[in-house]
Amino acid sequence: NRRPVGIVGAGPAGLTLGNLLQQAGIPCVVLERGTREHVETRPRAGVIEHRAVRMLDDHGLADRLLAEADRHGACEFRVNGRAYEVDYSSLYDGQTHYVYPQQEVVKDLVGAYVAGGGDVRFSVTDVELHDIESGEPSLTWTSADGRAERLDCSFIAGADGFHGVTRRSIPAGAIQEFSHQHGIEWLSILAEAPPSTHKVIYALHPDGFAGHMLRSATVSRYYLQVPVDDTVDNWSDERVWTELHKRFALHDSDWSLTEGRIIEKRILDMRSHVVEPMNHGNLYLLGDAAHIITPVGAKGMNLALHDAEVLAAALTAFHRSGDETGLNEYSDTCLRRVWRAQEFSQWMVFMIHRSPEPFLSRLGQARLEHLIGSGSSAGYFAQNYVGP
Ligand code: FAD
Repeated sequence: NRRPVGIVGAGPAGLTLGNLLQQAGIPCVVLERGTREHVETRPRAGVIEHRAVRMLDDHGLADRLLAEADRHGACEFRVNGRAYEVDYSSLYDGQTHYVYPQQEVVKDLVGAYVAGGGDVRFSVTDVELHDIESGEPSLTWTSADGRAERLDCSFIAGADGFHGVTRRSIPAGAIQEFSHQHGIEWLSILAEAPPSTHKVIYALHPDGFAGHMLRSATVSRYYLQVPVDDTVDNWSDERVWTELHKRFALHDSDWSLTEGRIIEKRILDMRSHVVEPMNHGNLYLLGDAAHIITPVGAKGMNLALHDAEVLAAALTAFHRSGDETGLNEYSDTCLRRVWRAQEFSQWMVFMIHRSPEPFLSRLGQARLEHLIGSGSSAGYFAQNYVGP
């Protein structure tokens, strides 16, 4: 079947799949709602696991990442005005994270795909899926210049994020959806401020969690736990900085937080959601289209990259020899990693947040104290944080 694979969505999942299929000589077409400039400049995640970097490197897609990314092997927890470093790299075979903004990953993936002659259509609208249960599925859409277009596909890859069209095309009852609201809310802040730390900081404060994430030499991301149903309008720039200073404050230290111009402020959807199975007929879901996870633990983009790797291998085996094993096992293989990441993220969410129930807050703090004081707990953290 030499019909192309139709890929909906040019995020990390869709573009990685596109590159890997292209390298395997399997025709594919990527459809993306946004412009190229939009996807290449949309700041989101920034922490990549070592195994995802190795996968990208194995396919020649990590040259700039390896040259420019910072490597991180330690993080810091702050509680009751004291700082505790966890050197997770030394607890897990010297493995580290790579800090490299998601939009740079996307830029590299678009560049490589286009340079290899890849077919990607930006600014498309009205994408619809047809006959996904048959051996001859197809996609229709309206092109950037308003023409109605159609692609007869061998398979469709749904990599269009949580709010995309592909998952919604699966008939009701054919998949099971697991959803969880964690009962917390984060204000996410991006600022043109150089990092005030060399390590990610997770701070527990009586008023709630605060996080200092690393993005680049000139830009940093911060998170503030805010009351559920709070809105961005309640958070002036001045209030954001006051709250960050307060929650990160250390006793007996001259550490200080460097401020900068705030360029993005948004309330994050702290929901977890998983679809089972991740395929229906000849539609295969990848990345956020199949599962979302809170940013705690930084797993979302990594899971998207893993799904793409597994699906590319399965489609390659099928196209080469008709071997369907990988396709049949695709969902189970990905879901094992997804649920493990969800479990870890939930473990961390509980540990670093203030709960409206004081009893639960104390349990969370006890979990953190155990992590700081116990090799076995730190080992669990290290392995899951760096990525198994
Ligand atoms: P997306 O990146 O969402 O890409 C989907 C693409 O499909 C988009 O380009 C979209 O425009 C397109 N699309 C949607 N609908 C249609 C349609 N109907 N037709 C055509 N195209 C369509 N993850 C981490 O691993 N580490 C982190 O530190 C981290 N931090 C985050 C911080 C924030 C503020 C946010 C929002 C997310 C964060 N994540 C993080 C999660 C991570 O960004 C996502 O998990 C990741 O983007 C998933 O990749 P994807 O390719 O599956 O989906």
